Amino acid sequence: MFVKHPDISVKEVCEAESLDNLFHIPISQAAAVELEDLRTLAHSFELSEDTDMRIFCWGSSMYSAAKLYKLAFLTMQTPAAFRLVWKSKVNPRVKFFAWLILLDRLNTKNMLARRNFNVQPNSLCVLCDDGMEETIDHLFFQCRFAKQCWDKLGVSWVTEDDLSKRIERSRQMAGLPFFMEIFLIAAWELWKIRNRLVFDSIRYVQQMATKFQGGSWSSVLPLKRFR
Ligand SMILES: [Zn+2]
Repeated sequence: MFVKHPDISVKEVCEAESLDNLFHIPISQAAAVELEDLRTLAHSFELSEDTDMRIFCWGSSMYSAAKLYKLAFLTMQTPAAFRLVWKSKVNPRVKFFAWLILLDRLNTKNMLARRNFNVQPNSLCVLCDDGMEETIDHLFFQCRFAKQCWDKLGVSWVTEDDLSKRIERSRQMAGLPFFMEIFLIAAWELWKIRNRLVFDSIRYVQQMATKFQGGSWSSVLPLKRFR
């Protein structure tokens, strides 16, 4: 952006009277910081007689998308819960389901409302009649029905807002050899029960409405809501 000669060689940079003359002044604050780095760099090595060669920081002149990808994620720490999900022995469909939970992308009623898909008559949990909004936290952890299931399985959850940490800490406390498999399969079953209650009851109402179409039911049932 500020450089006067974009194709300048390393040798020319090193032999320049002043690095400042190589740039259009004034330069931005960020560029000034980079210029100081360049000044340090220009005095940190000996020039050879070879021609300039562009070498990537992984030590090769060949571009590699895989190496660039690795470099970009080198310092990134994956939360343990994600690693535990991928390492678990459940089938890929359940792993994908768990991944959606961890990312808060599962299509709960709360999620549909957040996406402005107002296809449900309300956003309340169908596993209990406590009038609670169906969120991931409620459906799988706070719901009265879910809690009864966890009690039966001998799983207790620590209080932690971060879901990944909650899973990790609860797993450490439980000390069960197949904690992740128990958690994932039970959560998957809870989701299937929930889906049956949400979708099959709608189909049941639709079937009943079709059966009684022309009678008094068709004027009573809110059919449009289910289409
Ligand atoms: Zn509930």
